[in-house]
Amino acid sequence: MRTIIEPFRIKSVEPIRMTTPAERRAFLAAAHHNLFGLRSDDVLIDLLTDSGTSAMSAEQWAAVMRGDESYAGSPSFERFEAAVRTLMPFRHVIPTHQGRAAEAILFSIVGGPGRVIPSNSHFDTTRGNIEATGAEAVDLVIPEGREPRNRHPFKGNVDLDALRELLEAHGDAVPCVMATVTNNAGGGQPVSLANLRAVADLAHAHGKPFFIDGCRFAENAWFIKRREPGQAERPVPDIVRDMFAVADGMTMSAKKDAFGNIGGWLALDDDDLAARARTRLILTEGFPTYGGLAGRDLDALAQGLAEIVDEDYLRYRIRAIEYVGERLLALGVPIVEPVGGHAIFVDARAWLPHIPPLGYPGQSLAVALYEHAGIRSCEIGTVMFGRRPDGSEEPAAMDLVRLAFPRRVYTQSHADYVVEAFEELSEHRDRLPAYRITWEPPSLRHFTARFAPA
Ligand SMILES: *Cc1c(COP(=O)(O)O)cnc(C)c1O
Repeated sequence: MRTIIEPFRIKSVEPIRMTTPAERRAFLAAAHHNLFGLRSDDVLIDLLTDSGTSAMSAEQWAAVMRGDESYAGSPSFERFEAAVRTLMPFRHVIPTHQGRAAEAILFSIVGGPGRVIPSNSHFDTTRGNIEATGAEAVDLVIPEGREPRNRHPFKGNVDLDALRELLEAHGDAVPCVMATVTNNAGGGQPVSLANLRAVADLAHAHGKPFFIDGCRFAENAWFIKRREPGQAERPVPDIVRDMFAVADGMTMSAKKDAFGNIGGWLALDDDDLAARARTRLILTEGFPTYGGLAGRDLDALAQGLAEIVDEDYLRYRIRAIEYVGERLLALGVPIVEPVGGHAIFVDARAWLPHIPPLGYPGQSLAVALYEHAGIRSCEIGTVMFGRRPDGSEEPAAMDLVRLAFPRRVYTQSHADYVVEAFEELSEHRDRLPAYRITWEPPSLRHFTARFAPA
């Protein structure tokens, strides 16, 4: 059969409350045209993020009941630790309430003023936690990873020459080398096994540990299986184990590829580093057998980890997003190619050429998608990145709108509806307005800024 179906049935449903464009115009006005200000009940299809928005399975809900809430030595922790170590066999597994807590603990130990931490692209919380210690976060993705139409199969790869140069010139300042799989900040693009191995070799040759930000490890493994020579016949869990075999540790947001609504972990081999991390954990998160989580969360994640490497799921997951990408391209909507693991990135600057970057084409498109069809997306462009520390503005490198797909939540008719919204918008896209900011906070303005049509 050619049709790839959703590999699940639906046992419990949440109603979507239908709204009219007139109602949505009123909601937009009340939210000052900032989609973060909307109530989720007023959204038909919520593609704001894939983080923590997954649908849990019947087995995960059963695991929730199995959860043991003992303060210390809970069997829920043992099940969680075993599930992590089946895929990522690190000596120490330290649960945290989400990914950024694992980052904060790691960088509180290895970061600090004068330190430099390279990665393909640091995610914003990773960068934030590195910079909060006074260290510098450096992005070294391959040049192809910065070109929206370049169809390189592994656009998340680390630029090995740039990494070698950094290690040779400033090696003393580098406490560890990182890579993010998939490369979220770079469009959800995968990193090859060959690249992970080469990065690890380089890091180790300079005596540096290699850490993987593993948030979307299963999606990355699926791309390796489909695109990397010699990997097509290998089971996904084996590929995952190979990815982490070359690393010395990892940070993880279980709100992504563990089907969790909350959770994360820090895992690593070094006993001394682990002891320091646990000391920090007890101060900020909790006892080492629960970290920042309830026992029931640990059990739900243990089950989620078994489900996320299922090949029927991954085939459907990656194909469902690729399908939306193909249909948008057929409509002439410019997107970042090839489509990444968890999201479609629409090139709003190219699609709305009448709106200059400082008129926020991404914001205009995101607002129009909501007003026209009730779809919530996320501007990733000049609103998010265009404000300099001195308060002046400059265009971001790109003005994108991200459609991030929650896991196992929406069906193909929802996807068709999203495509149809673009089809209808394309007819009057030359009339979508530019926006101006009427109020903004001094930093991270995209969450709370107020907008008005210019
Ligand atoms: C989401 C994410 C994080 C942070 O995780 P939280 O659970 O949101 O704190 C870190 N790195 C990447 C690549 C992510 O996608």
